[in-house]
Parts: sequence; C-alpha cells; structure tokens
Amino acid sequence: MSGASSSTWRNWAGNVTARPVREVSPASVAELADAVRRAAEDGLKVKAVGTGHSFTTAAATDGVLIRPDLLTGIREIDRTAMTVTVEAGTPLKRLNAVLAREGLSLTNMGDIMEQTVAGATSTGTHGTGRDSASIAAQITGLELITADGSLLKCSAEENPEVFAAARIGLGALGVVSALTFAVEPEFLLTAREEPMAFDRVTSEFDALHAENEHFEFYWFPHTGNCNTKRNNRSAGPAAPPGRVSGWIEDEFMSNGLFQVVCSLGRAVPATIPAIAKVSSRALSARTYTDIPYKVFTSPRRVRFVEMEYAVPREAVVAALREVRALVDRSGLRVSFPVEVRTAPADDIALSTASGRDTAYIAVHMYKGTPYQAYFTAVERIMTAHAGRPHWGKVHTRDAEYFAEAYPRFGEFTALRDRLDPDRLFGNAYLRRVLGD
Ligand SMILES: Cc1cc2nc3c(=O)[nH]c(=O)nc-3n(C[C@H](O)[C@H](O)[C@H](O)COP(=O)(O)OP(=O)(O)OC[C@H]3O[C@@H](n4cnc5c(N)ncnc54)[C@H](O)[C@@H]3O)c2cc1C
Repeated sequence: MSGASSSTWRNWAGNVTARPVREVSPASVAELADAVRRAAEDGLKVKAVGTGHSFTTAAATDGVLIRPDLLTGIREIDRTAMTVTVEAGTPLKRLNAVLAREGLSLTNMGDIMEQTVAGATSTGTHGTGRDSASIAAQITGLELITADGSLLKCSAEENPEVFAAARIGLGALGVVSALTFAVEPEFLLTAREEPMAFDRVTSEFDALHAENEHFEFYWFPHTGNCNTKRNNRSAGPAAPPGRVSGWIEDEFMSNGLFQVVCSLGRAVPATIPAIAKVSSRALSARTYTDIPYKVFTSPRRVRFVEMEYAVPREAVVAALREVRALVDRSGLRVSFPVEVRTAPADDIALSTASGRDTAYIAVHMYKGTPYQAYFTAVERIMTAHAGRPHWGKVHTRDAEYFAEAYPRFGEFTALRDRLDPDRLFGNAYLRRVLGD
C-alpha cells in the first residue's frame, strides 16, 4: 500500500477542498480492509474518493482519504452470466475500452467516462434512457468493506437488503471494493443531433421520449433554441463522425470555442444573451453511428459547477418552462445550456429514479461565475415539483427533505445504523443528507 501524509484534496470543479489527516492508496482488498481497521483504531473517519467529479462535499474528509488509483482492473468477464467484475477504482473509460476489446458493452452511461466505477455509481450517475436506467442499475453484484473491516458481498440473492441500498450508497455503508455489472454484446447506436425550437421540443416531449431509446436535449438560456439528441440501436454499418466534423463539433464548438465564449461571458455578462442567440443558431444537424460509449460520452474540458434535479417525468415540461420564465424575467446571465434527460423507474432505495419514471433538469454555471442566485431560484422550482437532487451535484436539501422525497429513506438509514453505527464513514455531507 502506498501511503502519504496530508495534502489538500480538490474536486474537479475546484469548489470543494479538504485536508485529510492522511491518504492511503490500497493495492488490494486486504490492504483496503487494513486501512479501514487502522483508521478506526486511530479514531479517524474514513472516506474513499473517486476522481473528484462530484460538485458536492460527498467525498470530502478530514480523516483518512482512500484513493482509488491502485485498486483498479478487471477481475473477471463471465460470458455465461454476461457480467464483468471490476475493482472499485477502475475508471469508466478503462472499463469501456476493455469491454469494447472483448466485443461487449454496458447498456447505458452518462456524458463522460472519467469517473471511477465506485464513485460514479455511489452518487447515482446516469445518462438518458427510455428503458435503460443509471449505471448503478446495471450492477448485479457488489462487495464492500464495512466498518469492522470485514468483507460483505451482496446481490439480488445474497444479502438482498444490502444490495437494494448499497448500489447507490453515497459512501455511507462502507468502502466498495468491487462491482459486477451486467454487460451485453457490443451494439451500434445511431445518433441524430438536431436543433429544434424550445416550443416544439416541449410540446412534443412525450412523443420524442416514447419514440427513442435515448432522448435528450439542451436548451440555450436567453433563446428559444434547443439541440436534441436521439440515440437508437442500429444494424449499422458504423459511420463515426468524420475526423474533421467530429473535431469541429466536439473539440472546437463544445470545448475550445465554448471556453472562449464562457470566459467572455464571465468578464462581460451583458454579452451572454447575444452570444447565446448566435451560437445556438450555429449548430447544425448531424447523424453518425458508432459503438455505445463513443456515442454516449464526450470530453468536457470547460470547467463548470452543476446542479441537477430529478422530477417525475410528467412534470418536466412544466418545470422547464418555469426555468425559462425565471431566466427571462430575472437579471441572470447564463452561458451554459440546460440539459434534460430521462430514466425509467428503478428499484434502488436512494436512486433519484427510485420507484418513479423520471426526467432530469441540469443547470450549470461556468467556473468562477457566481451560481447561488441561479441555483437557488431553480432549486425552488424543482422542489415544488417533488424534485430529488443528484447526490453528486450542488444542492441544499437535508435529511428531513429526503425522508419525504424518498419513500425508502428509512430503509437506507436503518441499514446504515446496522452497518456503520459509529459513523466511521461519516462526514459533514452525510450528516446533512442522512442525519446523524
Ligand atoms: C464533467 C462532468 C460530467 C458529469 N456528467 C455526469 C452525467 O452525465 N451524469 C451524471 O449522473 N453525473 C455526471 N457527473 C457527476 C459525476 O458522475 C458524479 O459526481 C460521480 O459521483 C463522480 O464520480 P467520481 O469517481 O469522481 O467520484 P467522487 O466524486 O470522487 O466521489 C463520489 C462519491 O462516491 C464515494 N466513493 C468513491 N469511491 C468509493 C468507494 N470505493 N466506496 C464507497 N464510496 C465511494 C465518495 O465518497 C463520494 O461520496 C458529471 C460530473 C462532471 C464533473
């Protein structure tokens, strides 16, 4: 195990820092268990981190910080069960690459693949899907080190009450050491990206959702313009975006030029609405066909802070229209598009889609721009629609709110009381969202 004394830990967005007493990088499950036991003996709290892509203080600790870097790799690919078992610290991009080499794929994923498998699933990271749900919903087995340093395995058959909660465990139940995911033979997706008017997307939302396996759209604040993306399985052949056009859309438009536009908007906010009108009109339609992770994910180099709420799917259009009215009547200047995605109901206790068909509304602010006024006003709209915030993205909700928002909240906290009565895995974030 490599161990290091304290340095300042910082998340991707730079809005959270922490000073752990010590950092450890266990290279095996035995070393991980040992690190947990030693922390308990020393009276220190324990927190495993992934790649710090959460915008909340979920991963922050002043105790022992467990880094994922040496607990990575593929343990087993089972072609009969069609599963893959990976070490908890494995980055999603490595998992995707290995699966592609083996002619396999996850069913659905989020917008990026930098995160670790344990970090991504612990906060309920999701993409968009009519029938397929979050990454955590694709877990078929999970292994964690609990507060007494012992290894606990769970699945639908083994310790099912742990499995029901631990797939989205917020780091509160133990340190995940390995995860097993369902996989399927690699398939192709045809992506259709198409600009569309706000009024049309919102009035046709139900049909767009029902007719596509993966539908999402971005609305550009200060405009009536959206960009839609429809991904559907295809018989092929593969037709990836051309090198130049792919580069222009993904690197130049979405990252390079966008960075310049955001910096200008931060320096001179009054320019934002005019720039938004021009840049949202510059988008053009494109269609391409590729393997899943290349269609679902893309690099995000422009840093931002984000809040995302899950609302009942039938409420999403009303909620989004309220967000638009808010931006229009306020002095807010927002350079980042608002992203709308969906997920079917799932059976995980603290999943934002637990027990209800869901749609997500995500708002972003360029790094370094004050975001509180915008996020507070949007949060008010979302909570009025029984919204549930993403566990890894900025929000101000607490345990009292979640006890109402999640019918199975008590099931989760009871399991936490059983597995971690002394709150070895506690931190300020968990105190706020789960209670003492
Ligand atoms: C650019 C960007 C794009 C994003 N895109 C999406 C998206 O498309 N969809 C979406 O839903 N979210 C998205 N997110 C949010 C992100 O996926 C989540 O915040 C995710 O939890 C980050 O994973 P991580 O590996 O960085 O974990 P961290 O942020 O480091 O940790 C997250 C939580 O997991 C816990 N944890 C980590 N490892 C373990 C372990 N081994 N055992 C127990 N607990 C553990 C931590 O303690 C913490 O509570 C995005 C974030 C960014 C910055």
